[in-house]
Amino acid sequence: MDLDTLKAGGKAALARALAEIERHPDAPETVALLDQAYQAPTAHVVGMTGPPGVGKSTLMNALIGGWRKSGRRVACIAVDPSSRRSGGALLGDRTRLSTDPEDQGIFVRSMAARDRLGGLAGLTVAAMVLMRALYDIVLIETVGVGQSETDVVGVADTVLFCVQPGSGDSLQFMKAGIAEIPHVVVVTKADMEQAARRARSDVLGALSLGGADGADGWSVPVLMVSSLRQDGLNQLIAAIDDHRAFLEGGGRLVDARHGQAALWLCEAVRERWGREGIRRAGDLTLPPGESPFSRLATVNTRLSCA
Ligand code: GDP
Repeated sequence: MDLDTLKAGGKAALARALAEIERHPDAPETVALLDQAYQAPTAHVVGMTGPPGVGKSTLMNALIGGWRKSGRRVACIAVDPSSRRSGGALLGDRTRLSTDPEDQGIFVRSMAARDRLGGLAGLTVAAMVLMRALYDIVLIETVGVGQSETDVVGVADTVLFCVQPGSGDSLQFMKAGIAEIPHVVVVTKADMEQAARRARSDVLGALSLGGADGADGWSVPVLMVSSLRQDGLNQLIAAIDDHRAFLEGGGRLVDARHGQAALWLCEAVRERWGREGIRRAGDLTLPPGESPFSRLATVNTRLSCA
């Protein structure tokens, strides 16, 4: 299947392509399709992370609704932590998202988390790259537990970090040193008014202490959103768009994506061949503009022949 066929085939074709990637990740057709998709990105990739119960699924539904209202087509990947170690299978639409199955402008896929998001390097990254060439927005949700917050950085252009009022998340945010990760912080459940305001000022404090704010010229907004009352949603959508515009300035987006691809290539080689493989593979530098998928295929062939 090539990209044009995939574009014409709608959600059913994408589901088939993802199944094919899962079954035959090394097949030349798979690599060719991923290369094509890698070179033709259309979507803005948004990562969302935060602890369980913070309101991510509810917010995803609200965001999807907001994007669809403005005609944007959205693909979602929900990384399911409960299926950790179940083998990295694509789980179908078994998510808590309530989207209209008839709407061709929404595609939702759950994926099992292995040890970490990097652990499903092949599948998550491949799915993201494919969706990125087909939709306007790709939304990836991961549950923030320990270090997994950092994993979403490897796949998303814009990272949202969700904090719940009155939960101490903002303190954890400071302690864990993850203040440098998000591009936008969302205080969820803003209908818990006072607690939400307090959480916001805690986060602002943590950001200024962490020195993360404005380090690369982007000042991290801390927004209060109530998905329940649909308050603050438009501001969140606007902040995500602002970050995209920021990235597009000075070639930051292209550089950031290239950095992700380069890291992914190394991780994929390490996952398959171990440290020894990394050593034997020699130079794994990914030249700007080159697809990591064909590069990985070349490395795999070389190592399996050696
Ligand atoms: P997740 O585990 O992060 O995906 O969180 P969920 O989206 O499942 O939400 C956890 C709980 O918080 C549910 O009971 C939601 O109804 C509730 N919740 C989500 N958003 C809001 C909100 O904006 N306001 C309030 N008061 N509750 C919310």
